Amino acid sequence: MTVASQNILTVSPISSLSDEVNDIRLRTAKIVAEYVIPEEKTLAGYEGDEKRDSLYEELRNHARGQGLWKPHLPTEYGGMGAGFLSLAYMNEIMAWSPFSKSCFGIVPPSAGNESVLAKYATEDQIEKWLLPSIRGEMQSCFSMTEPDNPGSDPRSLQTSAVLEGDEWVINGRKWFTSNARRADFAIVMCRTEVEDGSGNVNSKMTQIIVPTDTPGFEIVRDIPVWGHTGGSHAEVTYTNVRVPKGNALGRRGTGHAAAQDRLGAGRVYHCMNCVGSMWRAFDLMVKRATEREVHGGKLEDKQFIQGFIADSYMDIQAARLMTIHTAEVIESGRDPRTDISAIKVFVPNAMHKVVDRAIQTYGGIGVSSDYPLAAFYLGARTLRIADGPDEVHKILIAKNVLRRYHSGASWDFG
Ligand SMILES: Cc1cc2nc3c(=O)[nH]c(=O)nc-3n(C[C@H](O)[C@H](O)[C@H](O)COP(=O)(O)OP(=O)(O)OC[C@H]3O[C@@H](n4cnc5c(N)ncnc54)[C@H](O)[C@@H]3O)c2cc1C
Repeated sequence: MTVASQNILTVSPISSLSDEVNDIRLRTAKIVAEYVIPEEKTLAGYEGDEKRDSLYEELRNHARGQGLWKPHLPTEYGGMGAGFLSLAYMNEIMAWSPFSKSCFGIVPPSAGNESVLAKYATEDQIEKWLLPSIRGEMQSCFSMTEPDNPGSDPRSLQTSAVLEGDEWVINGRKWFTSNARRADFAIVMCRTEVEDGSGNVNSKMTQIIVPTDTPGFEIVRDIPVWGHTGGSHAEVTYTNVRVPKGNALGRRGTGHAAAQDRLGAGRVYHCMNCVGSMWRAFDLMVKRATEREVHGGKLEDKQFIQGFIADSYMDIQAARLMTIHTAEVIESGRDPRTDISAIKVFVPNAMHKVVDRAIQTYGGIGVSSDYPLAAFYLGARTLRIADGPDEVHKILIAKNVLRRYHSGASWDFG
């Protein structure tokens, strides 16, 4: 008996979802399954840069034509204006392939910056930075983490911006500013207020837009990540960098709140993304188990591999339900912080385990670039650090739960 290839890559409507969300899921799945996955090797550059770039262009035009373009942006900026749930479920499906998102106009970190600009930018900033970014004429980066201060404690950031007349003067050192070398502008997290001892970081930081050709902006090096420098996770120095006062994004002192916007609901998208990648890894693993013969029998008949399948199924379903629950908490207007921290820890860890089992099932070819498993694996491991390491989120969960108990309030676990 032959087993259908890539069983996971077909979706049917979910009865609890609206017609709109189901329609977006199904149409996204059609593009990813029919156009992106069969071309993964070309998109990875196996057949050269020229072929890769022209295929990307073709797929982007196709997604645009299908009305599935830049789902993270409102319609007034040419985006889909997808609601929160639509975007969450769309993320799950796009993540079947590590090459999909870019085909739908979501290219990190520029896409995150576009969302922040769409929310906080002035008309002038929209003209200068947001619209060219949307048109693909500009790229950007987000420059927050510093080598000398722990990124997991944003109160510690020291890069300063001081107003001199009509200009901000910025001094400091950042690292892991992803995409810095290709970026036309950076959104830089700066300390703009003097420490008053209150420890209230929310009123100390301002995000400031810095064109990367401003004198004093210098890329020291691209930090190799997992052996590669392609992501340009750069170390950057800011030495007396002068930009106009009008480059501050949002009100002075609201930089941290704006960053939380990016990281808060964004974590639900990241986690749905992880879930989608887990489904793909699971699908590849099960398919391989039904085909590969070792020691006189199919892998699917070995109990170790059956254990991989069972454990992975449970991990994926738990991660998915937890993420959907968090999305529902956000939709209902309740305080989602505990749940957001919970999925930020649980889901990338679940993905790490599921992808690890899939790689093991494939043997040597599992760690090659012939399959997306190696990319998924490195992504999952990195996610356990980026956007807040596991430990920090666990501390937040415990603090929120304990505060709730000490206040005498009932704890609504629903
Ligand atoms: C591939 C990649 C891309 C990135 N891209 C960007 C980007 O574009 N822009 C940007 O600004 N940043 C970026 N980052 C940086 C990322 O956000 C930080 O690495 C992350 O926030 C952690 O900060 P840190 O590295 O300073 O670790 P630290 O804050 O030094 O923490 C180190 C470790 O200490 C432990 N720890 C921390 N606090 C506690 C505690 N209270 N109790 C117990 N243990 C604790 C955790 O295990 C943590 O991993 C990127 C990172 C990576 C790996």
